[in-house]
Amino acid sequence: MEMENRIKDEFSKRFGAEGALYASAGRINLIGEHTDYNGGFVFPGAIDKCIMAEIKPNGTDKVKVFSIDVDDYAEFGLEEADAPEQQWARYIFGVCREIVKRGGKVGGFDAVFSGNVPLGAGLSSSAALESVFAYALNDIFNDNSIDKFELARIGQSTEHNYCGVKCGIMDQFASVFGKKDHLMRLDCRSMEFEYFPFKPEGYRLVLVDSVVKHELVGSPYNRRRESCERVAAKLGIETLRDATMENLERIKSEISEEDYMRARFVIGEKQRVLDVCDALVKGDYETVGARMYETHNGLSKDYEVSCEELDFLNDVAKECGVTGSRIMGGGFGGCTINLVKNDLYDKFVKTASDKFAQKYGHAPKIYDVVISEGAHKC
Ligand code: ADP
Ligand code: MG
Repeated sequence: MEMENRIKDEFSKRFGAEGALYASAGRINLIGEHTDYNGGFVFPGAIDKCIMAEIKPNGTDKVKVFSIDVDDYAEFGLEEADAPEQQWARYIFGVCREIVKRGGKVGGFDAVFSGNVPLGAGLSSSAALESVFAYALNDIFNDNSIDKFELARIGQSTEHNYCGVKCGIMDQFASVFGKKDHLMRLDCRSMEFEYFPFKPEGYRLVLVDSVVKHELVGSPYNRRRESCERVAAKLGIETLRDATMENLERIKSEISEEDYMRARFVIGEKQRVLDVCDALVKGDYETVGARMYETHNGLSKDYEVSCEELDFLNDVAKECGVTGSRIMGGGFGGCTINLVKNDLYDKFVKTASDKFAQKYGHAPKIYDVVISEGAHKC
């Protein structure tokens, strides 16, 4: 409510009118890491942290937009040559351009926006920003004729073409399609998806942000992709999606130890996502938690994308008796995501904060998340 009021105040002060309000959310991924480029599954959900925007067509060919959080104003045209200087505004410009490139309509508009998705913490504030504008401009200028999957692609293309980030589709997909109390299993090969209930009564989801991001030498991401591709090629399949542990064991002696470990993680991770989906249908959150620990272990030992700080946070969670805990995101820093029983929550947060601060000299950041609605008109 506070965010909404601040946006409305600012909008009426700047533009002397009232626009329509839209919101779109950040996201978590419960399980399914490094699976997208292997044709596997991811399992994200939208969260109760969003970016909200008030928007009104202004009858010109100019976009006039104010960011409350950055405290900055941008004005730009809608042609390719009109790209604004400010990074935050390029997300909005990119969305406009990507809609136009697809034959959609975008006219000039006035906008004010603000959000509470932490920036750069792995919760995809950028996807929330793209999605809220993509959703709103579809409603305002296109009679909602662009389908929701295309809205997600518009956000993804914005990152690729205007922000220099070669991301997959998961973040924008989750932000656009998110549904309260539901996670979404997205099949990264067919792009089909299914909602699963996520209503962990008696548990909370909490992220512990290490606030570290290790600068890495070389290209560890590409090296892992190449390992997966080599093993798939050896098995005569397109991606590891189609591999089983038995297949992998059969060729073990013909591949490097490193490629073997990478593939073992990816094949195991596919099954863990499916297990978690089955468990959720039964309301079995203990199994969900057990699989989260297994994923962490795999990411740390087999895929080797964890780091000391995140392994430490995972160990603290285990010691406290937290139900499930794992590194979230590509690795080498960022957050752990934790499924914690209500009555353990205070103890866990305090222990993790204190122990981490003692060892690394700074406190982690704590984000509570509740699975919530994705892009919508308010
Ligand atoms: P994340 O992991 O949160 O998506 P990114 O680096 O991809 O991190 O995106 C963060 C960028 O998105 C910010 O630098 C800023 O340009 C833009 N952004 C996100 N949230 C906001 C906001 N509330 N106000 C203005 N810009 C924002
Ligand atoms: Mg981002």
